[in-house]
Amino acid sequence: MHHFNYVGGVLHVEDMPVPEMAEQVGTPFYCYSTATLTRHFTVFSGAFDGMDTVVCYSVKANSNIAVLRTLASLGSGADIVSGGELARAMKAGIPASKIVFSGVGKTEDEMRAALAAGVLQFNVESEPELELLNQVAVDMVLEAPVALRINPDVDAKTHEKIATGKSENKFGLPWTQARDIYARAAALPGIRIEGVDVHIGSQLTDLQPLEDAFVRVAELVSLLREDGHNITRVDLGGGLGIPYHPEDPEPPHPDAYADVVRRTVGDLGCQIVFEPGRMIAGNAGIMVTRVVYVKETGERTFAILDGAMNDLARPSLYGSYHHIQPVKEDAGDDMQLVDFVGPVCETGDTFATSRESGPLQAGDLVAIMSAGAYGAVMASSYNTRPLTPEVLVKDDQFAVVRRRPDYEEILAQESIPNWVD
Ligand SMILES: *Cc1c(COP(=O)(O)O)cnc(C)c1O
Repeated sequence: MHHFNYVGGVLHVEDMPVPEMAEQVGTPFYCYSTATLTRHFTVFSGAFDGMDTVVCYSVKANSNIAVLRTLASLGSGADIVSGGELARAMKAGIPASKIVFSGVGKTEDEMRAALAAGVLQFNVESEPELELLNQVAVDMVLEAPVALRINPDVDAKTHEKIATGKSENKFGLPWTQARDIYARAAALPGIRIEGVDVHIGSQLTDLQPLEDAFVRVAELVSLLREDGHNITRVDLGGGLGIPYHPEDPEPPHPDAYADVVRRTVGDLGCQIVFEPGRMIAGNAGIMVTRVVYVKETGERTFAILDGAMNDLARPSLYGSYHHIQPVKEDAGDDMQLVDFVGPVCETGDTFATSRESGPLQAGDLVAIMSAGAYGAVMASSYNTRPLTPEVLVKDDQFAVVRRRPDYEEILAQESIPNWVD
């Protein structure tokens, strides 16, 4: 998090002091750094210099159109999982020729929209999906460019809720049946087979499972070519992990990942698609929240924040660790153990327990770090808490890139039927 530093004892995002933004935007809010997004994207894409690659940023990690546009201007494509994300990617100016459509449950309407847009590739995850896509394409007098997502049955060694590459997961087609399914796909007039796709999970901190999966992909490409298929692209998914804890070992560097890619699929003569999400956006964002009360129970000290599980769901959903930093730097003395919690009436509404913290008081600002991926995108308005705003910083400027809706706007989406008195 090189662009989130204390300057004169005050946390800055690039050259913007956090308190100044909090004053203008109100809390809680997400704040992203353009410089960090840029650095992560260029380090990742630069690792594959000289290879024929397309980096399709995984929109679901952080789908704000200002973030998408920032990445698009660096040459990013998009990995989308819904019609809504297609609309976002297009609005952000990402060319359809760099959009891949992933996801296990694409609907007919979503397929139609993506075919009309002319996306690069559909990553198909089941035979029924293949059949529906064929029908829709035939109906539109088009051919759908397809990669089949293979489940390589490897253990990604990550949190069970974000592991996707074991045979018991709902994702992909069993790699052992792949040749049969490719043969059937080849007979469908609306389907044009182009590639093989794999994505084994998220927050991966070990390269071995990725290597195992890519070896399977390479073997399969050879077999499919023997079977007469014209395989010109492999999609290796996303999943590279990021450090959440300051003492976490550094996750694999993109250069080490690129070495694995080169030695496993580098000689196939295929274009290679990547779908990184978390590693681009995760450490490019924080959530800024204010202490509403400090509550001492004798047993524990609670910092009750104005941010909650509806704003940032990862701790309640996965038990995830997020580092929490005071916006005004601690002097480092008078340290105590504090539970950082939200105001929602759920015990799961807890960001951290027994964290070492300097003295806190009502009104203090704290930053929940590493919140740029799977943060704002998962926010809800549970408890009729307005959807969390998002701010993008560049140097000493900031812009609100999603504003906080007011209560009137929220309530305007609902109506009372006329049979209710
Ligand atoms: C979620 C997802 C990604 C991105 O994963 P990260 O861990 O954020 O890199 C890429 N591809 C697919 C198919 C996904 O579902």
